[in-house]
Amino acid sequence: MRSVVIVGAGTFGASLAWRLTRDGVEVTLVDQFEPGDARATSAGETRLLRSGHGSDAEYTASARRARTLWRELEAESGEALYVECGLTWLARAERGWEAATIPVLEAQGIPFERLAPEEGRRLFPSWSSTGLAFLLHEPEAGVVRAQRAVRALVRQAAAHGAAVVRGRARPDGAAVRLDDGRRLEGHAVVWSCGAWLGGLFPALAPIASTRQELFFFAGGPAWAAPDVPAFVDYDHAVYGTADVDGLGVKAASDHDGPPLDPDAPLPTPAGDGESRVRAILAERFPALAEAPLVGAKSCRYELTPDGHFLAARHPEHPSVWLLGGGSGHGFKHGPAMAERGADALRGGAPLPARFGLAERTPGRSLRTAGGSAETVRRPGPAAPPASTAPDARG
Ligand SMILES: Cc1cc2nc3c(=O)[nH]c(=O)nc-3n(C[C@H](O)[C@H](O)[C@H](O)COP(=O)(O)OP(=O)(O)OC[C@H]3O[C@@H](n4cnc5c(N)ncnc54)[C@H](O)[C@@H]3O)c2cc1C
Repeated sequence: MRSVVIVGAGTFGASLAWRLTRDGVEVTLVDQFEPGDARATSAGETRLLRSGHGSDAEYTASARRARTLWRELEAESGEALYVECGLTWLARAERGWEAATIPVLEAQGIPFERLAPEEGRRLFPSWSSTGLAFLLHEPEAGVVRAQRAVRALVRQAAAHGAAVVRGRARPDGAAVRLDDGRRLEGHAVVWSCGAWLGGLFPALAPIASTRQELFFFAGGPAWAAPDVPAFVDYDHAVYGTADVDGLGVKAASDHDGPPLDPDAPLPTPAGDGESRVRAILAERFPALAEAPLVGAKSCRYELTPDGHFLAARHPEHPSVWLLGGGSGHGFKHGPAMAERGADALRGGAPLPARFGLAERTPGRSLRTAGGSAETVRRPGPAAPPASTAPDARG
């Protein structure tokens, strides 16, 4: 395989471009925006990187491998892209998602600590252990500076020879047609178009685009990363980070937001989103209950029905591939998925069947605790049984 056209320079497409150019493949990377544009999902300032994925060994290994590759990108680009602040899972049940995570981390040699709820006092500047069964702390988890990382991926791909093209593309058989009329062909064509993938391939890619809200609070110097970990309250579907780069303490609800067309402007958050997030922060970190809001923004999830990624060959054009469906947890995996994707493009190990185009079943067993199924939407400690633990966002 000598040449590949990649449409979409988010975490999936830009990582693949970086991987393939380093392998000597001729790559054309197309995007309608400049790399890191805020309308792309990968362009948030920060994204969590954690290895814990409940009982799912495959995503666990992928996240761990991705951490190594993000570090490689840092070394190659000379940029500080990963803040290794650790991440603490706030487990509300003894036998829930977090408990299912532990043996997988153990089996893969990934460092973790299982802590009593009171130990949160030494991790966070303000703390209440109300409602918690235990803490699962991943000291080598952290936060990727996402927008900067995507720009670094594109820059490094270009440094290794990728042609970076600005333009809006649509499929033209097995080729790519740009809005200026140019037609691009390659031995393979990969469509990694985030929330736009569903519109480009409506019969193949069941991707729903939703509006999600992020809030940033002024916690003061005590909350600065990397001294304070990121956190996930899986059962209440809330996650956040300490203050990275002066942005403020970030907190967000992981419940699916309302549908939002990929081409619609990202609205400024309004309504009761802030008060919902603030109430949950106040429960866990009392000092943040009244912390001033210093930022609020919207961005898009691109959700598959079951939360698993989409990475599959087009049924009618064998040289064409679809890649995406990050479903609220895809950013961190970009470079690891690129490794597997590059191998599959060359005819190596096939990608997992669950990333394929077959119909997907929404449901509790494969949704996050913040997913759309009503059974798992309601607030409260609705931990799934370990054997059917769904995936978590973030
Ligand atoms: C609020 C929020 C928080 C998240 N938190 C985390 C987290 O903590 N950890 C984590 O791992 N993941 C997280 N995610 C998920 C993760 O950010 C996404 O799954 C991932 O970034 C999606 O990457 P992508 O490459 O598929 O899409 P995108 O980043 O959207 O990239 C797709 C690109 O394709 C381009 N494109 C689309 N259509 C065309 C076209 N026709 N022609 C040319 N170009 C086109 C777009 O311009 C865009 O640049 C979060 C997502 C959100 C919204």
